[in-house]
Amino acid sequence: MSDDRSFQYELPGFDVSVRLKSDRNQTAPPDFQLRWMLNRAVREFSDDLDHLYGQMQRFVPGSARPAIAEDWQRAAAHLDEQELVIQDQQVMQAWERPLMRAMAQSVTRTGGDILEVGFGMGISASMILESGVRSYTVIECNDAVIDAFEGWRHRYPEKNVRLIRGRWQDVRDQLDHYDGILFDTYPLSQQEYERNETNGTAYTHAGEFFPLAAELLRPGGLFSYFSCEIDTLSRGHQRLLLQHFDSFQVSLQTDLKPPTNCQYWWSESMVVVNAFKSPDTESD
Ligand code: SAH
Repeated sequence: MSDDRSFQYELPGFDVSVRLKSDRNQTAPPDFQLRWMLNRAVREFSDDLDHLYGQMQRFVPGSARPAIAEDWQRAAAHLDEQELVIQDQQVMQAWERPLMRAMAQSVTRTGGDILEVGFGMGISASMILESGVRSYTVIECNDAVIDAFEGWRHRYPEKNVRLIRGRWQDVRDQLDHYDGILFDTYPLSQQEYERNETNGTAYTHAGEFFPLAAELLRPGGLFSYFSCEIDTLSRGHQRLLLQHFDSFQVSLQTDLKPPTNCQYWWSESMVVVNAFKSPDTESD
């Protein structure tokens, strides 16, 4: 059709062509507004691509992640000082320690009651407990990891520690309200991985948990999670945050050292997000 609208952009490193599909054409704003919006969006896309392409030159070689099989709950876990491996997946590795420290410091900044989702190697769990919080609750769904948790909890006999067995998706009725929430899970199926990390709109495995995190957070509470973002938050990720939280703060954890065969992270940095629920301002 003659009113088909196409826009060409020649950008450093990439050529981009945008054609408005006919259903959009019906509702499209006038050309000068459309161009304004497209110019900005394409410029941002191109900058992002260029920048990430540059970052990729410094990635560790990494190794491909095997497809995730089902039945996570009963799958055997291999756990040592360096890593936790379940079904050949590197679920957690010790190089993440600085990242875990940043998140643990954030969620425990006011003490109080803390919820963690995913026990893993217990690295963040130990940091949370050692900061002296009122209570620590953890949701975990793998039996072998739960065995390791039982051994770990004996190191802290005087602490208020509670385990909720199961997937976070299934245990809503056992949960309370919390001052800090730390979410760091691992996809339990290939679909979950693709939906949240490569093809979906959540950008992080925590995305599907945002609504529940917002619901469980006390006013003034803070939520942090494995962001899966290299150096800034993508637009979609920011919109999702603002849909569920009052504000957020972003900082960078640098100098990360994933091993050369890492399956799940290849960059020396990751964004640390603190998402806030505003304190109650109603006077009583
Ligand atoms: N932060 C931890 C690492 C967590 S590893 C540390 O510092 O060591 C991820 C953990 O999340 C694994 O133990 C995995 O079994 C658990 N997990 C994955 N999906 C889950 C879900 N839907 N609900 C609860 N736990 C989950």
